[in-house]
Amino acid sequence: MKYDAIIVGSGFAGSVLARMFAEDGMKVLVCEKRSHIAGNMYEEEQENGVRVHKYGPHIFHTNNKKVFNFLEKYGEWYFYEHRVLGKINNVLVPIPFNFKSLELLYSQQKANEIKSRLLEKYKNVEKVSILDLVNCSDEIIKEFGEFVYKNVFENYTAKQWNIPISEVSKTVINRVPVILSYDDRYFQDKYQFMPKNGYTKLFENLLAHDNITIKLNTDALNYLNVSKNKIYVQEEEYSGIVIYTGQIDQLFNYKYGALPYRSLNLVFENYDMNYYQSSAVVNYPNEEQFTRITEFKYFSNQLINKKTTILKEYPRKYDYKDEKSIPYYAIISDDNLMQYKKYYNLVEKIPNLYMCGRLAEYKYYNMDAVIERAFELYEEVKENGKTEKTKRKK
Ligand code: FAD
Ligand code: UDP
Repeated sequence: MKYDAIIVGSGFAGSVLARMFAEDGMKVLVCEKRSHIAGNMYEEEQENGVRVHKYGPHIFHTNNKKVFNFLEKYGEWYFYEHRVLGKINNVLVPIPFNFKSLELLYSQQKANEIKSRLLEKYKNVEKVSILDLVNCSDEIIKEFGEFVYKNVFENYTAKQWNIPISEVSKTVINRVPVILSYDDRYFQDKYQFMPKNGYTKLFENLLAHDNITIKLNTDALNYLNVSKNKIYVQEEEYSGIVIYTGQIDQLFNYKYGALPYRSLNLVFENYDMNYYQSSAVVNYPNEEQFTRITEFKYFSNQLINKKTTILKEYPRKYDYKDEKSIPYYAIISDDNLMQYKKYYNLVEKIPNLYMCGRLAEYKYYNMDAVIERAFELYEEVKENGKTEKTKRKK
């Protein structure tokens, strides 16, 4: 086998590691089962010229300077702060819920009372968890928390996850805080940028290296398999490094059952108008069947007259037996994590196999966290390499 490393999957997990290994002089093979690179960040143009995110809207944000500095090397970025509105009682209010949202939904007197209570209770605090508000000992704050919980979180969460909100991990709900000011940005991170020419172009640059070979339309599991704690490539034992960024349960042939995921039905619609809505994303927590509508022109950095494209996201079941079903979100629960751990115990027995990314690690990673994880794994692989060499010399 002529490759020093085989990387399964070309999303951020696979592509960042491929590039780092290639820069070190390693020959790398990237296998991607789809007909394109870039994983779920892939963008393509609609007939009307609008560039859309085929697998759902992806907004880049991070507090990690190292991650952003790395990405800057592979394409131009432009400053973009994401803003979201939510339809609550037929009024469009900023999400995360902030002081402006409060003023739009309460009388002036009540809004002032709640704001001053919040500022008194949470001095010098920028944002607070909705779960803290509903459990607050102050009656006025608690009542306010219950209003936001009921109108913003409860139905959206049940719709998204198809289970009652009480069964959804707190880590998921806490991704969206309540803001104790008029800050109306969806994310508060230090670096908020979008790739000027789109993610696909960024990935093309990331993977453009003489030491990287990309095979598209190639399901790695058709020619790579694991048996007796060893990796075989087309029946031959492979001792190079394998980075796996696909579903861990699939790799082990669902030996311990299929890990549960949520999927989405993504419906794109084109309109002959400049803009369809007044913000990049509008969330629909309550009445509608979809969770949100994204209008891509707000962040595709394109000037296109009288044409626009929107995306409605309808949450739905994931079915591992259906090849067309896409596992978008790992469902984080104690039981599911225990099931994951069983699979991971198998990985630990194979010295040259590494898991990285949303599917392989069964985590709710943002893009920056996946890149951070890829950096960490790169160091781990290098460190193991040294140990292996030392062992062999002895
Ligand atoms: P992926 O991008 O899924 O890449 C995995 C790749 O492996 C895929 O291309 C897949 O085809 C390939 N693969 C799998 N199995 C095999 C196999 N057997 N053989 C060959 N190839 C295989 N994060 C943010 O930071 N900001 C956002 O705004 C944001 N929005 C999101 C919106 C949605 C709807 C979702 C679901 C996620 C969002 N994320 C966002 C998270 C982001 O998508 C992930 O962090 C990122 O995709 C993780 O990259 P990855 O490389 O782990 O996985
Ligand atoms: N959420 C909600 N109402 C909203 C937005 C989010 O209840 O208007 C909850 C919901 O449980 C969701 C979670 O917060 O699954 C995380 O939202 P986020 O926007 O981070 O989800 P993603 O962009 O990953 O789909």
